[in-house]
Amino acid sequence: MPYADTLQDNLAKGQELRPDVQGAYTAWVQECFAAGLYFRVTETYRTQERQNELYKVGRRGIAGEQPVTWTLYSNHTLRLAADCYPITGTLNDLIVRATPYGITHPLPTLDPPHFEFLNVKPPAPPPVDPQTQLTWAQNALRWAVGLRRAVLLRMIDRLKKLLGQ
Ligand SMILES: [Zn+2]
Repeated sequence: MPYADTLQDNLAKGQELRPDVQGAYTAWVQECFAAGLYFRVTETYRTQERQNELYKVGRRGIAGEQPVTWTLYSNHTLRLAADCYPITGTLNDLIVRATPYGITHPLPTLDPPHFEFLNVKPPAPPPVDPQTQLTWAQNALRWAVGLRRAVLLRMIDRLKKLLGQ
């Protein structure tokens, strides 16, 4: 695959993101590369010290120097942002594929490469197996009365059938 090294580098940078958004990041990067939309991730996590240093650039009286960041309070310091530069395709191609994962592009004109992971849903917990559900329902039945008891009895009946008991 072209840009295989870039893919590996992008995936490695994903390891610096908050653990609960890493799955969405990885799936998004792999989906884009599989579609031939290659891009380079230059930065994910950034220390507050580095953010403070970046904020000085363009604000320290050096002639011709332009600011490189607009804020001291970046979501990069929370491990919830990635800066992405398309190699093939456009930023919009990346945005279209990011949206279903809850990955946002909040500053299209102020900071075009900047994507954020604040709205990514955490992965669903693994499903509870029917035998465990049956045990829980049978325990709950011991204190259940009235409608709740009827609901639990139906649930137990359904689970027993499912389990062949
Ligand atoms: Zn950024």
